[in-house]
Amino acid sequence: RNTPDLETLDKRYLFHPFTALADHERNGPMIIVKGEGVWLEDNHGKRYIDGMAGLWCVNVGYGRKEIADAIQHQAVTLPYFHSFSSWTTDTPILLAERLIEMAPVPMSKVFFGQSGSDANDTQVKLVWYYNNARGKPLKKKIIARNRGYHGVTVVAGSLTGMPSLHSGFDLPLSFVRHTTAPYRLWEAEPGMSDEAFTAKLAKDLEDLILAEGPDTVGAVIMEPVMGAGGVIVPPKGYYKAIRAVLDRHDVLLIADEVISGFGRLGTMFGATAMEMQPDLITVAKGITSAYVPLSGCMVSEKVWRGIVDGQATLGAFGHGYTYSAHPLAAAAALANLDIIEKDGLVAQAADRGAFMHRQLQEAFADHPLVGEIRGMGLVGAVEFVAKKQPATRFEPSLKIAARIVKAALARGLITRALPHADTISFSPPFVISEDEIAQMVSRAREAVDAVMDELVR
Ligand code: PLP
Repeated sequence: RNTPDLETLDKRYLFHPFTALADHERNGPMIIVKGEGVWLEDNHGKRYIDGMAGLWCVNVGYGRKEIADAIQHQAVTLPYFHSFSSWTTDTPILLAERLIEMAPVPMSKVFFGQSGSDANDTQVKLVWYYNNARGKPLKKKIIARNRGYHGVTVVAGSLTGMPSLHSGFDLPLSFVRHTTAPYRLWEAEPGMSDEAFTAKLAKDLEDLILAEGPDTVGAVIMEPVMGAGGVIVPPKGYYKAIRAVLDRHDVLLIADEVISGFGRLGTMFGATAMEMQPDLITVAKGITSAYVPLSGCMVSEKVWRGIVDGQATLGAFGHGYTYSAHPLAAAAALANLDIIEKDGLVAQAADRGAFMHRQLQEAFADHPLVGEIRGMGLVGAVEFVAKKQPATRFEPSLKIAARIVKAALARGLITRALPHADTISFSPPFVISEDEIAQMVSRAREAVDAVMDELVR
């Protein structure tokens, strides 16, 4: 029979996540077939700079033979065995030891899953179990932030503070609340100092906890720097103020380090860069540089003790996935961490990040429609506004960011339009060179100019 081409097969069979079906039907898929360093190639041979490291995750870049070799070796030696009851395999033990040793604040144990979403679901169960074990079963509510992104499973999707991800599914679940994001452009009064803005944000959180009743609130979940919600860097002193509120009300803090973990902000963990003191830490993405799926929940000794003590009354922590502590994923993670450490990629992310931010400032600071340039380490974003003073959003129907992303694609650059904000983001692999950063930013600037020309026409 005639073999239909990949585009035809894709449209016929593949259900794409997060995809507007009418657009997909009209434009067809973009099929990537090869990657090397920061470069990707599609099925027509067109090359792109991957300014997003996939989805903020291919931190060591494409084509790392060391990880491929580790995966191959593990697949041949032992592709899989589970970790239920007391069973396990060797590589997850070694990875757990390594993670606990490198944790940004003292941590005690690691529970492995396969995605950021399922790990955040696990975190919620850990918090519930911990509070049940302490005889505080009512402490069930979990507070996240507007615009926070924590995944899409039913619980993690509820934590995610994006209404468009709730509306089709009757979410968020009843125990989830959202508080104000540290989003200076839209949440701070003009001219507000960092101290005053921090105090407002801490008060918003405390008011919410008090309104709900502190005995009903178990945990708050926060990304050290918010990623998909807009690359939002909180003001200095923010997490110290948040921690003080949480301590007053016996509420745990979950750091969602799915993007920030393993070097993205120029420190091994975002909690270090942002002076955050979490009780639980979620990791995924960069733990394997996405070569295979893996996530983890790190828990502090305090939480771990609660879980141990709970066994007497609650029984075993009744939770775990077929693929929890997958040996092949752990082998990939160990090889990935070796690369990060041996090649000094965390310091490199800090260094290249500083270069990227200088380039973004040079390219965009004077632009009449740029409202804010944000970021830290090797993650950055540019937000566009219809008017700077007072800051005024574009009509959403203009889809500014999506148009820029499309124009960038035509120029061989992959960037990302962030939801509910006229914002494009950059989060390239740590191996990007200064020359590649310069190309990335100049292609982005050309794309912006092309779209702005269309607007005035
Ligand atoms: N948490 C954060 C901060 C994320 O950025 C993401 C994904 O982008 C997730 C959780 C969800 O991870 P996954 O897509 O692996 O379920």
